[in-house]
Amino acid sequence: MPGFGFGSGFTYTGLPARVVFGTGTLASVRAEVERLAISRALVLTTPAQTAHGRLVTDALGDRAAGVFSGAVMHTPVEVTRVALDAARELGADGVVAIGGGSTIGLGKAIAVRTGLPQLAIPTTYAGSEMTPILGETEAGHKTTRSSPDILPETVIYDVELTLGLPAALSGTSGINAIAHAAEALYARDTNPIAQVMAEQAIAALSRALPAIATDPADRDARAGALYGAWLCGMCLGSVGMALHHKLCHVLGGAFQLPHAETHTVVLPHAIAYNAAAAPCAMARIAQALGTAGTSAARGLYDLAGAVGAERSLAALGMPADGLDRAADLAVANPYWNPRPLERAAIRDLLARAFAGAPPA
Ligand code: NAD
Repeated sequence: MPGFGFGSGFTYTGLPARVVFGTGTLASVRAEVERLAISRALVLTTPAQTAHGRLVTDALGDRAAGVFSGAVMHTPVEVTRVALDAARELGADGVVAIGGGSTIGLGKAIAVRTGLPQLAIPTTYAGSEMTPILGETEAGHKTTRSSPDILPETVIYDVELTLGLPAALSGTSGINAIAHAAEALYARDTNPIAQVMAEQAIAALSRALPAIATDPADRDARAGALYGAWLCGMCLGSVGMALHHKLCHVLGGAFQLPHAETHTVVLPHAIAYNAAAAPCAMARIAQALGTAGTSAARGLYDLAGAVGAERSLAALGMPADGLDRAADLAVANPYWNPRPLERAAIRDLLARAFAGAPPA
């Protein structure tokens, strides 16, 4: 691949997950659970998605042990303990998580503690189902760990289940997914496989998301977005992330800002920060966005506008006097990024994101 510098070699680790993708694929959940030798599945949902839980238990029949509908954001270990008690009392020998990253996080938290097999049915574009990563909170403190035991064995993507994802959340969730692909293109351990997935993913999502904003019931667009989200999840699961993910982690943890919305605001600015240090990645992002005439950062900012998303941290509830603290936290623990971490430039980046200004 001329010009991409892979002559010196690379390492690629495949993620051993089985994927069933399509429309109406939820109908295969019983067969997939049998394949995993689960005879009594604990079905996990958020309180808002109990109807999705019922769809699963109806399809599972006597392979359903019961439903736990207490999944919440940030996978608090107190909730995991209650779910573990429920799993024990019901004699569950596997979990089926249907929902977004919060519900899938709970499934991972149970699986890593018990060794139970897990099947994930994502209903957002967050991508957690494709990663061996688990973020948990205890007494307000967030920890993240990675292990092959955390990766769900089987994932069912059913386009039908995403039709009800509200238009606003669809846009921000989709841009949250694009963030995984964008950072995969300049990851320290990037490789040609991750890059192919990233480009396909950005192209699919950037075409699908504006169409979904116009018509949330557009099945073609929904299929494109879910396919893109799958590929983005694989990018997140297979290579390391950088400044953008770190900033969102800091902002979510320190100021309780909403996950997908924060990613959407920060992404154009983080990409602008890294632009000069990763020109090849920028060209590929811009090309995939179909905005080759303009910068990758501007293309992402415009995409957020096209889906009607908030583009300012202030609108998400970030306090103005939090910018210095956020900049301090962002550089507190060194981590890899294509451009060195410079506090003053990161403070500027955050100020632009706070104001909703276009990326520098
Ligand atoms: P979420 O799971 O919190 O869902 C947001 C809300 O939307 C919830 O109330 C949910 O019930 C509802 N919802 C989901 N799908 C719906 C649908 N189809 N129709 C109607 N309502 C629906 O949000 P998320 O953005 O998917 O996930 C965010 C969480 O996932 C964060 O905690 C984040 O840290 C984590 N995450 C983890 C990884 C990982 O690899 N470990 C990756 C991505 C995200």
